[in-house]
Amino acid sequence: MEKVVAYIWAFIFGTVIGSFLNVCIYRIPKGEEIVRTPSHCPNCGTALKWYELIPIVSFLLQKGRCRKCKERISLQYPVVEFTNGFFYLWILYRMGYGTLGILYCLCVSALIVIAVIDWRTFEIPPGCNFFIGGLGAVRLLLDFSGWREQIIGLFAVSGIFLLIYLFTKGKGIGGGDIKLMAAAGFLIGWKNILLALAIGSIAGSVIHITLMKLKNKNRILAFGPYLALGIFCAMLYGEELIKWYLRFCGF
Ligand SMILES: [Zn+2]
Repeated sequence: MEKVVAYIWAFIFGTVIGSFLNVCIYRIPKGEEIVRTPSHCPNCGTALKWYELIPIVSFLLQKGRCRKCKERISLQYPVVEFTNGFFYLWILYRMGYGTLGILYCLCVSALIVIAVIDWRTFEIPPGCNFFIGGLGAVRLLLDFSGWREQIIGLFAVSGIFLLIYLFTKGKGIGGGDIKLMAAAGFLIGWKNILLALAIGSIAGSVIHITLMKLKNKNRILAFGPYLALGIFCAMLYGEELIKWYLRFCGF
């Protein structure tokens, strides 16, 4: 019973943070500040009342429209809130209480912001990468035992990306992707970040090609969302996946 209550709280807390992530996703690409300006309707500018700020619930009660101007509110808002809540619950379920779980929750939130912004604008906000790198530094300071893993992780994938970047004169890979893999590698270690690259590349090619076929148009690949997915999987299931892979290869 206690566990269930903890899960529910993790989910609710995650949706509240998710609501802040929406602010980040909306404002960072426009270069607006994210903390002091109160939440408002993007269409008419009406400031939101407290009862319009309840994650998911407000959206459902208002049937997805602004109270004042009745303009449709993007489905992105409840989806991001729910996703962040669900991931917090998932991480708690997987890792239990502990500092690493908290660091991973914060990392997942940054990954959601990165994924949505990169999908839309093909840019990864430097602040998000910096944030994930900061989480890596906190992990290192709290527990020195994995310092080799972490330091090598800083360069393992970002180094490969940097070479691609230099050889293709910046066309093969984005600078944001390099920084993301450096920061995340520092947080989750070199084995996990290599796994994240593998998962991200496979998911990226499969999903991107399928989308292109379905929509019948050419779109540049935004790598960020797929790398974010890879990082999430590696973070939670890296050890098992790597063990399974090595056994599969006969090691
Ligand atoms: Zn409005």
